Amino acid sequence: MTVTQHQSAALYERHRAVLPSWLATYYREPIELTHGEGRHVWDAEGNRYLDFFGGILTTMTAHALPEVTKAVAEQAGRILHTSTLYLSRQMIELAEQVAQLSGIPDAKVFFTTSGTEANDTALLLATGYRRSNQVLALRNSYHGRSFSTVGITGNTAWSPTSLSPLQTLYVHGGVRDAGPYAHLSDGEFITACVADLEDMLGQAQGTVAALIAEPIQGVGGFTQGPDGLLAAFKRVLDRHGILWISDEVQTGWGRTGDHFWGWQAHGQAGPPDLLTFAKGIANGMSMGGVVARAEVMDSLGANSISTFGGSPITTAAALANLRYLLENDLQGNALRTGAVLRERLAEACVDLPVVHQLRGRGLMLGLALSDAEAASATLEHARELGLLVGKGGRSGNTLRIAPPLSLTEAEAREGADLLIEALRRAGAQRE
Ligand code: PLP
Repeated sequence: MTVTQHQSAALYERHRAVLPSWLATYYREPIELTHGEGRHVWDAEGNRYLDFFGGILTTMTAHALPEVTKAVAEQAGRILHTSTLYLSRQMIELAEQVAQLSGIPDAKVFFTTSGTEANDTALLLATGYRRSNQVLALRNSYHGRSFSTVGITGNTAWSPTSLSPLQTLYVHGGVRDAGPYAHLSDGEFITACVADLEDMLGQAQGTVAALIAEPIQGVGGFTQGPDGLLAAFKRVLDRHGILWISDEVQTGWGRTGDHFWGWQAHGQAGPPDLLTFAKGIANGMSMGGVVARAEVMDSLGANSISTFGGSPITTAAALANLRYLLENDLQGNALRTGAVLRERLAEACVDLPVVHQLRGRGLMLGLALSDAEAASATLEHARELGLLVGKGGRSGNTLRIAPPLSLTEAEAREGADLLIEALRRAGAQRE
């Protein structure tokens, strides 16, 4: 299938006139998406695309999932919003489920409206609990766009110079394809990163509050340290009483196939102290949240509220979405279809010099290309072929594949073939 070229130039003109210049968009001529179903979306001109980016990892189960649509419509017919000042049966029910799923003992949950706000809250809790504004984060990290979360975002393409209230110490751990860390074995890499962490702690002045880390770096290009790295970190952190915050905004809910949470690939030292989530929990409605041990969660020492966090409409969507995910074992599906996708891509990539590395796990796969131009060209070709994928990485050279978790094996094969063709076209363009 070849998609007709989009003619939304006038709309894009209006977009640029009134929206910030730094609001990132994809494609030379950005697409106006109007509706979706299952794993597909349509643009304003009727072109259909296989969505290999799941919105932006926000469509966790499927586009227009009838169970979620029904739950949202029924809730909208009753009442859109009340407030956390009143009891909400479904917020309590969702908190019970998320607390139990999190693996954190004696857990409590606070709902927010985004991943940024979830990480902000985690920072507020951790720095208050530890009485310190010193935080450890990984190089190449992305944790949000607020005043405090840009201060823990090591990926400089996404962290404008800001006078962050935090003192952040960046440690190695997410990226393995550069510098002196590139050719180390898993064990050697873990040893080197732990040494870096110890070194940073030696440079810290007084108490350090927390280490925040994405188990697989999302915006950073689906890069990750070896399994067990964060457990090795945790053993050091525990000696100092430093809290571990696992940012599961992209890695949660079974997307990685082999685990329900990204931290579980590092679980030998036990669960994190805090866990943050957002993106797909409500299948695209604005919901995020923090899970923390009760002692940490309850330590705030002042009243707080989120006017829209945990609202009836988003919790209705999240409960229906989570029920569908668990009843249909979409984690198992991510493992199966991710393997199909990976195998097909791995086979073809051998003959594609533009591809440097295939990485990630489950339905969170990254293809590191030779450079950012190759990634942009592939994105354009994939679009012409009717496939949407994401982009990222330290230098913008990585394609990010993260379809809804209900992807079928046939769609996995179809999408892989479309992507391979797009990569061929991008490669041919450079010869
Ligand atoms: N943390 C991670 C790992 C993310 O990938 C993102 C967004 O991409 C965020 C936090 C921020 O979430 P939001 O865009 O919902 O504020």
